[in-house]
Amino acid sequence: MNVADSERASTKLREAGYELVGSSESADVVIFNTCSVRARASQKVFNRIGEVRKARNGNEPTIGVMGCVAQLEGSALFDHSSSINLVVGTTATDRLPSLIESARESQRQIIDVGGRVDGELWKVSNVERHSPYVAFVPIIEGCNKFCSYCIVPFSRGREQSRVATEILDEVRSLREDGYKEVHLIGQNVNSYRPLTSAGLEGFSGTTPFSKLLRAVAATGMNRIKFTTSFPRDFHPDIVAAIEENKNLCNWVHLPAQSGSDRVLRAMRRGYKREDYLRRVDAIKSSRRRIALTSDIIIGFPGETSEEFEETISLVAQCQYDGLYIFKYSERPGTPASGLADNVSNREKSSRFSTLEIFQKNLQGVIYKSYIGREVNVLVEGESAKSNSDMTGHSTCHKVINFPGDMTMVGQEVSVTITEAKANSLYGVIKKN
Ligand code: SAH
Ligand code: SF4
Repeated sequence: MNVADSERASTKLREAGYELVGSSESADVVIFNTCSVRARASQKVFNRIGEVRKARNGNEPTIGVMGCVAQLEGSALFDHSSSINLVVGTTATDRLPSLIESARESQRQIIDVGGRVDGELWKVSNVERHSPYVAFVPIIEGCNKFCSYCIVPFSRGREQSRVATEILDEVRSLREDGYKEVHLIGQNVNSYRPLTSAGLEGFSGTTPFSKLLRAVAATGMNRIKFTTSFPRDFHPDIVAAIEENKNLCNWVHLPAQSGSDRVLRAMRRGYKREDYLRRVDAIKSSRRRIALTSDIIIGFPGETSEEFEETISLVAQCQYDGLYIFKYSERPGTPASGLADNVSNREKSSRFSTLEIFQKNLQGVIYKSYIGREVNVLVEGESAKSNSDMTGHSTCHKVINFPGDMTMVGQEVSVTITEAKANSLYGVIKKN
């Protein structure tokens, strides 16, 4: 979502006549886009501002902070660092150019943490996208779930869905411009609920999201991925839509957070372990092999070692293709911040590595099972490790490396897997 926000900000800035430069050394204006989901992420901006100031050695640029930290901290950021001139909240991105102008002209500190203005459209120029072949398409912003540990509902506000016609127009024009893959993104994509059903007429589906999936599939875009899915709102009709449409990719990211019912209740996730496992069952029993990935928080306040064991057993049951593990990080103002963060750092680190090793072993078996199989890969560029190898993602969202050259970039190829690494697969292009 942050990458998508930067793309939108860059679009607005270039439209207003700004030239975007690759380094902060020569820039007149430096804007930091920030994340606040965990304390470490939110600390980063102050270190980065310090680095830029040091490198500029007195010749200081106009410094702005945008994104979640800006939204949450507001004018307190000015007290924190006197070199910040501009604070731009998560829904004020489109006003960046005029805000920069005010800050530079008035030489005063400028802040805008206001909401979106009616009629603002999500518009991103292809020049600003992170790839010429893969595009992020936001379908919903914000979150209404208020999980007890999470800052997102405060930093990004309430859920707001884009009208389907707008999303479909964007996907169609991306397709015309040669894009091969879109990622429909949002904090919880499957909570998609637009104010009008414009664009979804004629598409079947039990929920607006599964209708949208079918409508996006009908645009003919080669590959469609979506993330993140919220477990409570995960309707089996999503699996049906994936089965019906080959261009809906065989990958679901469905964060469990914990395997313990007590912890899930304290997290206010709105589902029990058993409910989660029912969703996983629907995914695993599909006719297509759908890859499943998840997020887990370890060390939530009061998490006992038995409760952590329940998470381990959930992970064993789910057989995830990939797992993101996070140590609980207390976020000021959230309900969980009122609970004693009583799992020691040492214990958190120990649970983290226990789960990491556990997943690594399970994942090793899953990755090995790909050997000899063929996967469809969108070639994205040279592999970081070897310039005779190319890299890309499979439809099941695994990193695939294989011998090749730059002429292949942007094409879909069929790769036969020969080797499994910890977090990637290696193979050779199938000759026709
Ligand atoms: N809406 C998605 C998640 C978005 S935030 C969902 O509910 O599944 C991305 C991930 O960051 C979460 O899945 C969670 O695992 C992690 N996260 C969020 N708040 C956190 C916190 N306070 N401490 C540690 N991890 C956190
Ligand atoms: Fe945060 Fe929960 Fe919303 Fe996900 S669903 S963004 S974890 S509040």
